[in-house]
Amino acid sequence: MKALSHKAKKSQRTVYPGADEQVRAFYQKLAQKWGPQHWWPAETPFEVIVGAVLTQNTSWTNVERAMASLRQAKVLSIEGIRNITAAQLEPLVRSSGYFRQKAQRLKDFVAFVDARYGGSLGRMFATPTAELRVALLEQKGIGMETADSILLYAGLHAIFVVDAYTRRILERHGVLDASAKYDDVRLLVEGALAREVIPSPPAEPDFDTRPKIHAPSTMSRARQSERVGVYNEMHGLLVQVGKHYCHKQGPECDRCPLTEFLSAQQRARVQIARKK
Ligand code: SF4
Repeated sequence: MKALSHKAKKSQRTVYPGADEQVRAFYQKLAQKWGPQHWWPAETPFEVIVGAVLTQNTSWTNVERAMASLRQAKVLSIEGIRNITAAQLEPLVRSSGYFRQKAQRLKDFVAFVDARYGGSLGRMFATPTAELRVALLEQKGIGMETADSILLYAGLHAIFVVDAYTRRILERHGVLDASAKYDDVRLLVEGALAREVIPSPPAEPDFDTRPKIHAPSTMSRARQSERVGVYNEMHGLLVQVGKHYCHKQGPECDRCPLTEFLSAQQRARVQIARKK
């Protein structure tokens, strides 16, 4: 399984000097305090794909409800989605919002796997990372975050998933500019963590700051390389920071484990954002 090339140049205008060191320091601090986060909560690669499609524009709690309905109806599999009509699928995914569109996206995804890979996810994920990423991005409704979630968490390809939390945290700490392109951020994190290792559970986790973590799942245990594990963990750790501390409004810097990396000037800027 090959990682995408890091040779693509990072934009000098949107990723600031010292960015690599800062990203590395964030990973080491969070991994040491909180340990493994056990993403993604799924039993099969197809469950990851369904979750990645359904989670667009909604909370994970709503996705879990839809997944439970799909499981109960015994259609949470590639065969299941293939053999059900879009009209039958819609009520099952209603809780995830945009249910007509999402039901059609799931049907379209299975049609894509059938047409291009003979219905085999194994064959699909055996495709080189860059080639498969292009193919996924050609599918309607699959943007970079969804494509990379599928590659990393379902296919165990070494690629980092950039989301709104990643951008907000890195931007607030002066690592990058708000206009940084998705792939600039992805390449920054992948390069910065190229030599890091999967965290071991800390002897003394920081229970004061560590949010609740998922129980290990079949997919979270199915790591195949150090890179996959590190990108998996970094995404999970940043999601926890974004969800529980680095809120869009009202960030809780004083309690956040990344507070020591925030300069006085950055803190003042964040606090101004807090008052808006
Ligand atoms: S909450 Fe504050 S300290 Fe934590 S990541 Fe956000 S800006 Fe940084």
